Amino acid sequence: MNDTSHNLTTSSASRIERVETLLLDIPTIRPHRLSVATMHGQLLMLVRVYTADGIVGLGEGTTIGGLAYGPESPEGMKLTVDRYIAPQLVGADSDRVQALMDHLGKLVKGNNFVKCAIETALLDARAKRIGVPLSELLGGRRRDTLPVAWTLASGDTGRDIEEAEHMLEMRRHNIFKLKIGLRTVDADVAHVAAIKRALGSRGSVRVDVNMAWSETEAIRGMAGLVDAGCELVEQPVKSAFTLARLVRRFPIALMADESVHGPDSAFELARAAAADAFTVKIEQSGGLFAGGQVAAIADAAGIELYGGTMLEGAIGTIAAAQLFSTFRQLQWGTELFGPLLLTEEILTEPLRYENFQLHLPNGPGLGIALDEERVNSLRRDRD
Ligand SMILES: [Mg+2]
Repeated sequence: MNDTSHNLTTSSASRIERVETLLLDIPTIRPHRLSVATMHGQLLMLVRVYTADGIVGLGEGTTIGGLAYGPESPEGMKLTVDRYIAPQLVGADSDRVQALMDHLGKLVKGNNFVKCAIETALLDARAKRIGVPLSELLGGRRRDTLPVAWTLASGDTGRDIEEAEHMLEMRRHNIFKLKIGLRTVDADVAHVAAIKRALGSRGSVRVDVNMAWSETEAIRGMAGLVDAGCELVEQPVKSAFTLARLVRRFPIALMADESVHGPDSAFELARAAAADAFTVKIEQSGGLFAGGQVAAIADAAGIELYGGTMLEGAIGTIAAAQLFSTFRQLQWGTELFGPLLLTEEILTEPLRYENFQLHLPNGPGLGIALDEERVNSLRRDRD
C-alpha cells in the first residue's frame, strides 16, 4: 500500500494476506453463435482474496469471445490483478469494500470487468465474515428465485426449436432469447417467426442483435419482428442516438445493453429516453454497487429492467443473482444461464435451476463453494 492509502491498512483479522488469480478453460455444450463471435468454450478468470482470519472471498471476470465483445480479456484481467491490483490490496482491510474500491479507482482507469471481480471477492469475504448472504449487503433480498431466459444460438432454426422444446419439457426455461444479426434481416426475421410459431404461447421470444444492424436495417427488422410475435429487441444498433430514434416507433420493447456501461451512461440513456429497458450486467457496470445504481436510475426514469449476463461461470452468475434479487422491479427477468452453457461443474453443489427459475442459495456470502479438485483440473497453467 502506498502513502495515500495508509488509512486502509490494518493488522486485524480482516487483513488481506494474499490475492490469487486463476484461468479456467471450460468447453461449451455446443457452439454459441453471436453476431460478434462464435464461442466453443469459455475462459473464466477467478480471483481469490485470502484474509488473516482464513476467509476466502471469490470473484470472477469473464468476457464473451475473448476481446470480441469488449475491451477486456480474461488473460488481460489476470495480468491487471496480478501486476496492478493485488499489490494494493495486500495489507489492506478487506472489510472496507467501498473505500478500497475508491482507492483502486484512482489507480486503475476503466477496467470495469476487473473491478467487478475484485469488488465481488471483497463483498463475498465481508458477507461471509458477518454471516449473511451477499444480497444483504446490497440492500436486502426481495425475491428468492429469478426467472431465467435461455439463449438459442446454435445457428440453425430446426436445432433451436428442438432445444427450446427440450427446455420447456424440463421446465427449465420458457423465455427464449435468439441471437441474430449475422444473416440478412429478412433471413433473421424468418428464423424468429419460425421459432415463435413452433412455440406458440408456451414460450416467449426475444432477440439480441448485438449492435449488428444499421438504422435502416433496424427499421425493417423491428417491423418484421413485431409481425413475428417477438416481444423485445436488444441493442439492434450501436449508437445511443439511433436507439433514441427507434424507441416506441414499433410496438416492441427496445432494450439497451452494450450502451449501458455503468451509472453515467445509464443516466445519459435515461435523459435521452433512448430505451424501454436496460440490461444490467455487473461486469459491464463496473461491479455490484454500480449495477445497483444503474437499476436505481432506470427505476427513477420509468425504464424497465433485465438481469444480464456475460456468460459467466457459477461465481459471476450467483454474484449477479445476489444483486438482481434486491431490485425493486425486474420486469424482464434474467438470463443467468451461464453455468448451464458449460460442460464442467466447478461447484461442490451446483446452482439450482428449477421450474423456470434460478433459486438463490441462503448461505453466507455468495453462498457457493468451489470443487477444488475440479477447479485444479481445469486450470490453464496446471502442471
Ligand atoms: Mg445483449
